[in-house]
Amino acid sequence: MDSIQLYVEDSYLREFDASVVRAGPRFVVLDRTAFYPEGGGQPTDMGTLEAGGTVYNVVKVMKRGPQIFHYLDGDIAEDTEVHGVIDWERRFNFMRLHSGEHLLTGLFEAAGSGPKVFSSFSQLDFKPSDLDEDTIQTVWRRFDEIIETDIPVRIYYTYRDQLDVGDDTRKQSFLEKIPTGVERLRMVEIGEYAHTFCMGTHVKSTGEIGRLRSLRLEPKKKRRKIVYFEL
Ligand SMILES: [Zn+2]
Repeated sequence: MDSIQLYVEDSYLREFDASVVRAGPRFVVLDRTAFYPEGGGQPTDMGTLEAGGTVYNVVKVMKRGPQIFHYLDGDIAEDTEVHGVIDWERRFNFMRLHSGEHLLTGLFEAAGSGPKVFSSFSQLDFKPSDLDEDTIQTVWRRFDEIIETDIPVRIYYTYRDQLDVGDDTRKQSFLEKIPTGVERLRMVEIGEYAHTFCMGTHVKSTGEIGRLRSLRLEPKKKRRKIVYFEL
């Protein structure tokens, strides 16, 4: 049985009820879950599952095929009804950082950074790139303006054949990265600044991301430029 991914439709859902559809030593699979599994550059959610008055800690969540495995500090039997609570402070911080990563990537690429080849919650790598200090300062200002304006982060669905990217090479290469066989695409759009395919969890508007605390350029060999950021 597939696990219904509640976090896909509502990334602000912190608590939910579910049934255990599969159980093993120190793990359960639920019929539905708000726990985000490790993946797509976002770390695992943590939190608790309560069953029959006992509270178990969820230490790691992983998606294996269509099922989502919750690893626990105890055993819960199959068919048990559970109440899940997400460690919200941890998750909301990841939503902020992940959404900020989208916005920064979009701003840098629009400023002519060259293609992004790696990113994390604190780092963006571009190659080949001629990024300079002026562009860093311009992007920093722009980023903070967009945070202040508090524009919506929009999630919507489209189909591969409905996505007209014209002759935009950046969007063409983004489409090429989506595995063949995936036809329905979940899109995240931050105004005109960022637009990409993503299954992760995002904040609802840019104000929640918060301003940049630092943005630092580090040139590497062979036209690789690393940008370190703190949110
Ligand atoms: Zn995303």
